[in-house]
Amino acid sequence: MVQILMQFISTPSYSIALNGEVFGFFKGQRGLRQGGPLSPLIFTICLEYFSRILQIVQKHAKFRFHPLCKRIGISHLCFADDLILFCKGDRASIELMVNAFNFFSKASGLQLNRGKCNFYYNGVDEGLVKEVERATGMCRGNVPFGYLGVSVSPKRLSILDCNCLVDKVVDRIRGLGSKQLSYAGRTCHGGLKVCRAEKQGGLGIKNLQIWNCAAIAKYVWWIKKKENHLWVKWVHAIYIKGDICKDYEPPLNSSLAWRKICQIKTLMKDCIWAQNVHYSINYGYSWLLPDTGTVDLAFMASEQRLLTQVRLMNMGIAQHNSCYLCGIMPEDHKHLFIACVYSATCCRLVSDWCSFQIPLANCIQWWIALRSRTLTQKKALTSLSPH
Ligand SMILES: [Zn+2]
Repeated sequence: MVQILMQFISTPSYSIALNGEVFGFFKGQRGLRQGGPLSPLIFTICLEYFSRILQIVQKHAKFRFHPLCKRIGISHLCFADDLILFCKGDRASIELMVNAFNFFSKASGLQLNRGKCNFYYNGVDEGLVKEVERATGMCRGNVPFGYLGVSVSPKRLSILDCNCLVDKVVDRIRGLGSKQLSYAGRTCHGGLKVCRAEKQGGLGIKNLQIWNCAAIAKYVWWIKKKENHLWVKWVHAIYIKGDICKDYEPPLNSSLAWRKICQIKTLMKDCIWAQNVHYSINYGYSWLLPDTGTVDLAFMASEQRLLTQVRLMNMGIAQHNSCYLCGIMPEDHKHLFIACVYSATCCRLVSDWCSFQIPLANCIQWWIALRSRTLTQKKALTSLSPH
């Protein structure tokens, strides 16, 4: 088995494609065939050896974990040819890590590209930093750094930090060709309306901001189900420390990303914690953006699922949450139907006009009750109400 694998690693050769023609034939010393279907698997087998070396290092008396990785014992993350090692910033732990890698390097023949490696630290003595730089030949890196095409930083990312992601998406859209591009371009302006189903006069296009909320809620679902993902375990160990409930509040010192996820959790708790639900992003999306052509408006209002300004702002779609009718208070369901001066005035005028008292404090329930009755019942109900 080992011999077969070594054949894969030691025999690749390379050619150069120039203007559509292939030139040359270079023999590689070591490394995997680029794009070979077996390459990712073989790489994983090689890295498994390194993982096992690190497991031995973790048991060393002088090794200390990175403070946020201690609880679930993470010392490294690797994916494709990216490798991140974590440890506490003390001399002994760093030395153990470097020695472990050198040992692996000798055994496997895989070597670091030192120009592409960096180390990152916080609150470490400058003298030690210089020493590590000398000993490893690696430079101190600056955050954010890219991992799997995403910027990684302990601080809030700026728009500038996300530019590489935006560029990728723009490139992808360009690749769609001019016909689809003009179609996409046209639909950018319609807002929520184009996202309605085609039968309702929309174009049936997904609203990406709402889709993003539904996708983030999938994380909450995983956490609730305690799915077997490293990240889910980490969140449980560091932030939740028990079961997540509907009304869980994130600790004040938690990361921005975690607070955002919790904001979506609050917004969608009735969807995620509903009985007999197996959450999917599609399900969450249609819960957030219901098919308004077929849904009972009064029912949606009583379930607090209308897209009020407060909800739109929580989803990151609206820039402010104040009511469009009075311009003063935040526009949530209670405000829109009961508390708003404008709504109350409308309600009173209608009441006077029909000489019929609408119970303002629970007008939504009254509205539902009214809708569910037959026409004769409705007439009887309205005639009985106090004038
Ligand atoms: Zn108002």
